[in-house]
Amino acid sequence: MIDDYSHILDQVPPSGIRRFFELVIGAEDVISLGVGEPDFATPWTIREEGIYCLENGITSYTSNKGLLELRQGISSYLQHRYACSYDPSSEIIVTSGVSEGVDIALRTILNPGDEVILPEPTYVCYKPLIQLAGGVCVPMDTSKSDFIPDPADIERKITPKTKAIILCSPSNPTGMVIPKDTLIAIGKLAEKYDFWVFSDEIYSELIYDITYTSFASLKNMKKRTLLLSGFSKSFAMTGWRLGFMCGPEALISRALKIHQYSALCAPIISQYAGVEALKNATPEVEKMRASYQQRRNLFIKKMNAIGLTTLDSKGAFYCFSSVRSTPFDSETFALKLLEEERVAVVPGNVFGQGGEGYIRCCYATSLDSLKVALSRIDAFVKRHAT
Ligand code: PLP
Repeated sequence: MIDDYSHILDQVPPSGIRRFFELVIGAEDVISLGVGEPDFATPWTIREEGIYCLENGITSYTSNKGLLELRQGISSYLQHRYACSYDPSSEIIVTSGVSEGVDIALRTILNPGDEVILPEPTYVCYKPLIQLAGGVCVPMDTSKSDFIPDPADIERKITPKTKAIILCSPSNPTGMVIPKDTLIAIGKLAEKYDFWVFSDEIYSELIYDITYTSFASLKNMKKRTLLLSGFSKSFAMTGWRLGFMCGPEALISRALKIHQYSALCAPIISQYAGVEALKNATPEVEKMRASYQQRRNLFIKKMNAIGLTTLDSKGAFYCFSSVRSTPFDSETFALKLLEEERVAVVPGNVFGQGGEGYIRCCYATSLDSLKVALSRIDAFVKRHAT
């Protein structure tokens, strides 16, 4: 019967972001604050390494875990930047982006019916991947606690079936960074009720005015943490598909079984480029970070002045702004703004509970475009003022 497909897939809706962006394709003169992607090309030193690989015929598979040289680079980077210590030989897998890491990690730990607590609004891939792994997503609305997961709310969601929580900090879509004392409180719950903490730290290099704490660096937490990170955002390498997952050997060795059959390895050209990125691209990363910070400061200030109250987010390259002062819900606001002013933003409802009433704007676009987008948003809000 070829017309009988995976039933589990029927539970999984298409990506809300993609659905929205189908509308943008082909539309003229649109300023997109939609896609969460750096507006920089990958730094030249990294691209050059990729070219070197191609020119020299370095095009083979690598070890399933990834090039040892890259795993060593990741290990010392995590040690120096975040005080996390991982053994390159047994505690790190190089993945095809964080996306793959999330997928195989969930498939590694979940049995049918196991629950995963998901503070929302959050990045759109977690919920479907939990479902596809046979798990049950337990969403938790963080909007009432300033978009920071409240440990008391988490505790109320815990059941004997709780297997993990997924933290995304700095957050997509809010840009909020979970403070250290909250991380410690979440860690205490994880110890008390014995569950995993998956910490997606893909935006950890994009931090403004504060100090970042990696969950795995907290006392006693390494053994129950899966650290997920990668090169897409910090090094402007989205198209290279390069990430890494770090955790205790028992989890990593099992995840490797899935990775070796389903992905085999991340592309070798990207892996050598990753080695170069970690060795020599730090000044470029800092320049990009500083540039995002400048745009963030402008964007938050202007959105607040327009009357769309915006979170004082300290990371990533997103602003999360309330549209409650307008007559529209998130989706209508985003659709009308696109239609009338040709500015694309993402309605907050696609990111799960607590996202309704907000829009996500990615400010990783040129200052000039941002200024035009802001004046169009201003005109739109004024025209529809009640
Ligand atoms: N995690 C978060 C929080 C993201 O925002 C994204 C992409 O937008 C990803 C993971 C996917 O990253 P990658 O390109 O490494 O697969």
